[in-house]
Amino acid sequence: MRYALALLAAGVPGGLMADEAEDAFVEANILGIFYHELGHALIDVMQMPVFGQEEDAADVASILLIDHLFEPESALEMAYDVANGFWAEAVANADYPVPYWDVHGPDEQRFYNTVCLFYGGDPDTRDDFAEDMDLPEERAEYCVEEYELAADSWGAVFDDLTQGGAPMVFTAEIEGSFTAGIIEAEVEALNADFGFPSTIQVISGPCGEANAFYDPSDRSITMCEEFEDHLRMLYGMLDQQ
Ligand SMILES: [Zn+2]
Repeated sequence: MRYALALLAAGVPGGLMADEAEDAFVEANILGIFYHELGHALIDVMQMPVFGQEEDAADVASILLIDHLFEPESALEMAYDVANGFWAEAVANADYPVPYWDVHGPDEQRFYNTVCLFYGGDPDTRDDFAEDMDLPEERAEYCVEEYELAADSWGAVFDDLTQGGAPMVFTAEIEGSFTAGIIEAEVEALNADFGFPSTIQVISGPCGEANAFYDPSDRSITMCEEFEDHLRMLYGMLDQQ
């Protein structure tokens, strides 16, 4: 629990202004996506065994990092935004068939997995969160166990990262962009606490699509600039709900 999101910390009493809430949603989701890609990177550089779908393991890493790195209030706001990001994605794609063939689980399932894990991390203080997100009781009763298994599994990996090692190195192809600002600050914060078995390159730049990638051939995470506009569109979908 090291730091709060700059945008969330700047929130005015009585709640964020509308555009601040949108920026906080976009920032939280950019970080959630970055932590997902970092999960892929760790699976590679830490030579982790993965029993199950790697995409699910990367989602678990993402919500655990939010839970571990941020103050409780900021983590809660981020969990709302990241879970709602999956929900909005499902709403945005409601006219298309669910791609069950995809390496990622359906967005609705990623939503509930995220909600369950975060709730399971502290059910006493997060019961309102589970209720707001309509987490069914049938799932909620397993969430503490799910969290403990996830925290034991990824926790051992995170602990190994604190013992020095190579840094993440950030390059912005568009200096000063919203995405570059967030990722540059995040890489700096993570480098203060974590060292890696080998250097991980982190690049923000245009890709021609709203996406993010980890490439094991050069150990690089690419965060596409196009995600920002996509996330702003998703935020608008939530407004209509
Ligand atoms: Zn992935």
